Amino acid sequence: LKSNCKVRKNASAFNVQQIVSSKIKSFTDFPLSRRTLDGLKNAKYEVPTEIQRECIGLALQNRDVLGASKTGSGKTLAFIIPVLETLYKMKGSQLCGLCALIISPTRELAYQTFEVLKKVGRFHDFSAGLVIGGKPLQEEAERIANTNVIVCTPGRLLQHFDETFNFSADCLQILVLDEADRILDLGFAKAMNAIIANLPAERQTLLFSATQTKSVKDLARLSLFDPVYVSAHENA
Ligand code: ADP
Ligand code: MG
Repeated sequence: LKSNCKVRKNASAFNVQQIVSSKIKSFTDFPLSRRTLDGLKNAKYEVPTEIQRECIGLALQNRDVLGASKTGSGKTLAFIIPVLETLYKMKGSQLCGLCALIISPTRELAYQTFEVLKKVGRFHDFSAGLVIGGKPLQEEAERIANTNVIVCTPGRLLQHFDETFNFSADCLQILVLDEADRILDLGFAKAMNAIIANLPAERQTLLFSATQTKSVKDLARLSLFDPVYVSAHENA
């Protein structure tokens, strides 16, 4: 079924192009799947924060986004929602292997993001895996063989690219780099370059960071295509 992977997301849907961020008062104002809306409602999320309001529409339009806003401003949902919608749309063309990849700087952050993914994505139908080490590589390798979404730390992901037979990101639709500034502060710049070299060029990339340092801009240049820069300043 590998050939089905070539089917790309279609961002030309009328309702997606019509999104005006200033008019978004509630998550229900975005053209989201019922499954995502139910997941948000179930988790008691109603009103998007500024970074969510500004980024989600652009991401649904299939744009690459560089989102900057301070800690606590709600960046996680700004990418979890587009990831869920991507998985949902891909289902029509047979979900094949790894569709979405979320890279976090630390195990703790990866774990927290994974929890939000499971909570808000509970009405969706996909497999998700946390790839942060702490278990034998082989055990993790067996679990992720057919995983649609992976939340990971850079070092461990790279180890799978290098050592896990059959692990491939050829079908990847969407890459998320969360807390990119911290990823780089922790010395993962080289690992990130190697990971990106393993990913298909034709994909969507969302990069989030609390600060915009030179090294974040360098990583953005390497990983994003014609990105929209979004920064949010509201008091969370
Ligand atoms: P950041 O990644 O920008 O530091 P998080 O995504 O971790 O921020 O969100 C910070 C907190 O705000 C979390 O406790 C999260 O549940 C909460 N939160 C995020 N978005 C919303 C929202 N739209 N409505 C209410 N609470 C939210
Ligand atoms: Mg965060």
